[in-house]
Amino acid sequence: MRLGLFGGSFDPIHMGHLLAASEAVEALGLDRVLFVTAAYPPHKTPVAPPEDRHAMVLLATLEDPRFEASRLELDRPGPSYTVDTLRSARGLYPGADLFFITGADAYRDLLSWKEGGRLSEYAQLVAVSRPGYPRPTLPVPVLWLEVPEYGVSSSLIRERLKRGKSVRYLVPPLVEVYLEKQGLYRVP
Ligand code: ATP
Ligand code: MG
Repeated sequence: MRLGLFGGSFDPIHMGHLLAASEAVEALGLDRVLFVTAAYPPHKTPVAPPEDRHAMVLLATLEDPRFEASRLELDRPGPSYTVDTLRSARGLYPGADLFFITGADAYRDLLSWKEGGRLSEYAQLVAVSRPGYPRPTLPVPVLWLEVPEYGVSSSLIRERLKRGKSVRYLVPPLVEVYLEKQGLYRVP
């Protein structure tokens, strides 16, 4: 099995994430991509609670059999370190070829992560292009993937919701419904 792991805060998940993962599946012939929601990302404090972010990942990936929402980092206490996630994935999926997918910005910062320089011992690193972030040069082996530019970020989605603007066509329809229903990211 060729298994992709795509980590993120997903605060909230958007079409750029789905496009990046889909491109990785096609380019690398992956059987599946696990979207791993970081419960407590070490470098930032997400706005929405972990379970809400995971619920949106579940809704966003529901209809695509290649995608799966993973609880790997949600059911683990403390900061969500990728190295721990990759180690447990190695145990959970023995014999699988693991691919850890990041965007260009996340790859650029990799060496500031816990054991960042060692991640490639556990999985093949894959970095997808992202508008606004030139291809970085790092001494960490990586498979670089040019994907269609999708200039959307979770920050932009949060900002738009705060200002009462629509996020239609930026997030999947069910995520839009969830955001509306829970009143996430809106000013009270
Ligand atoms: P935020 O603005 O809150 O940082 P984000 O849009 O960067 O949100 P993250 O959850 O931080 O989303 O990112 C998860 C992963 O997805 C990272 O590896 C990031 O580089 C990648 N990614 C996010 N948006 C895109 C995009 N539009 N194109 C390519 N990769 C992306
Ligand atoms: Mg980000």
